[in-house]
Amino acid sequence: MDKAYYKPGTRIKFRCIRCDVCCGTGPNVTITIYDLIRISKKLGVHPRAVLEQFMNVVIADVIPYITLGSDQWGRCVFLGFNQNGETYCRIYDARPYKCRVYPAQLGGLSEELKLDLKCPGVGEGEETEIASSKDVQILLDETKRHYEKILELVLTKKLEPLRALYEAIDNEYRMHKQQQK
Ligand code: SF4
Ligand code: SF4
Repeated sequence: MDKAYYKPGTRIKFRCIRCDVCCGTGPNVTITIYDLIRISKKLGVHPRAVLEQFMNVVIADVIPYITLGSDQWGRCVFLGFNQNGETYCRIYDARPYKCRVYPAQLGGLSEELKLDLKCPGVGEGEETEIASSKDVQILLDETKRHYEKILELVLTKKLEPLRALYEAIDNEYRMHKQQQK
């Protein structure tokens, strides 16, 4: 068993030791359109360009999933190393919400969380609240919205999965730009 039940607000001993266990498996991390838009803002390029350059799209049945791209060693495309060989995230302030709450993970679309015991920082350091309630709530809300938008386009408008993903990205990006005005 590599995961344990985790109740939001529970304090657990944790200290990030800046290994690359989590960021070393970027392609395993699915992200939302909203993560994509924040990354595109950070990089100053259109979300479609971010998708094409830095992400993978996996289609399972009729659902398109966006995952973080990887380098030749399978590590997240945004993972950097400083002069001491320590890891850092090159898009830290725009990193996906799944990365923000890690090693806590959603157990479903409820507030129940799982703790990923593959993270070697679990059990180290002081007791802390691993994922803030605010971040967990944003992750939940955005995950629900993301799949609702895509499923509506695929199931109701009957768009082909990849086209539905591009259309959902364009729609949400347009709304985001309008909210910025
Ligand atoms: S969160 Fe855990 S797995 Fe990720 S870098 Fe920190 S210690 Fe390593
Ligand atoms: S986006 Fe940043 S925090 Fe997330 S897996 Fe990649 S390097 Fe790690």
